[in-house]
Amino acid sequence: MKKSNNTILYIATVLIFTITSLIILFNIKEDYFQDALENGFLFNKINILDYQMGKGKYDSINIEDGFKVYKENNIVKIDKNEETLSIDSTLLNDEEKTRVIKNVIYSIKDDKDTYNDLGNNQEFLDEIHNFDEFFDSFDFDYESIIIKHTKDQNIIYKLPYNESSKFMSFMFENIESDPILIKLEERYIDPNKPIIALTFDDGPNIYTKDIVNTLKQFNSVATFFVVGKNVEGKEDIINNILEEGNEIGGHSWDHTLMLKLDYEELYKQLYWVKDVIKASSKEEYEIKLFRPPYGAIDDNVRINSSYPLILWNIDTYDWKSHDIDSIIEEAILTVKDGDIILLHDIHEETRDAVEQLVPILIDKGFQLVTVSQLYDLKGIELKAGEVYYNIK
Ligand SMILES: [Zn+2]
Repeated sequence: MKKSNNTILYIATVLIFTITSLIILFNIKEDYFQDALENGFLFNKINILDYQMGKGKYDSINIEDGFKVYKENNIVKIDKNEETLSIDSTLLNDEEKTRVIKNVIYSIKDDKDTYNDLGNNQEFLDEIHNFDEFFDSFDFDYESIIIKHTKDQNIIYKLPYNESSKFMSFMFENIESDPILIKLEERYIDPNKPIIALTFDDGPNIYTKDIVNTLKQFNSVATFFVVGKNVEGKEDIINNILEEGNEIGGHSWDHTLMLKLDYEELYKQLYWVKDVIKASSKEEYEIKLFRPPYGAIDDNVRINSSYPLILWNIDTYDWKSHDIDSIIEEAILTVKDGDIILLHDIHEETRDAVEQLVPILIDKGFQLVTVSQLYDLKGIELKAGEVYYNIK
């Protein structure tokens, strides 16, 4: 696929130097910042709003006395004890605006196709330096202020809250008591919007943690169908998968084709993986799903499986192409609500493709959940021995 179709500029990661300078700036609150940044609940006030208001459930929400977030004339506003802060271009001082412009230009230069379209275009360079006119749409999500160029919706910059000194001082000045730290609620999934499940087979593997990280970065989860004999020595990967809210399913003991097996061998392939995952995970995790290698199922498998048998309806052919663009293209070509996508976390190209694929899918409006969550959200009960491809 062409990269120019795909000029999504997810640039914002928390930059160490910024954190450091802010910690110096707000040195009194150092512990609070560190704790909050590490645990991801710094802006739980905003999170609650984002989950609730973002879904159109409320126009405004009072989180605690004297603190309110709402939208007025399409501008998000935050009230705190009579003061109001608008989420718009006035949020940034000149230095911060310059940094946003630089980062957008750098990221465009990184992407050759887009650079040819935009990056060496003098008109574009002139326009972007006029920050207030160029970026004229502001919103926020659970971790950042989202700055958009309305003419080209692909030009998006996600500014972490802590990179706006005005935002930080407004939120935290004159707060005397410790903020209430609430661990993030489970992600809110809107059952009326498209939901799909990414699945990763044949791990755990050296690439698995990177995939888990990418999913986490985009507030998403997936299902990992693991091969039992691969687990020994990779217990930390198993725990990492689970700690980030993902699901683990069984994918046999040693990737044997499970057709015409005698009972003893069939039992080993179906259930040893369950035992090793239970033993390897801190919370004695119980596998609830199974995917037979190659999707090969006979009556024996069906009758003896105490798990629902989860196949897929979209094969990315990552095992065959080993090509990043092709993996992404196969995944998005026909994807629709209720689909299950097959990937393998044992390939480097899959790891790399997922970094682009996840934001593309989210941008297309898909919510990424585990297979169990997918069926649960659609109100379909998974039954032992039955075969599932996707939800139609
Ligand atoms: Zn497999």
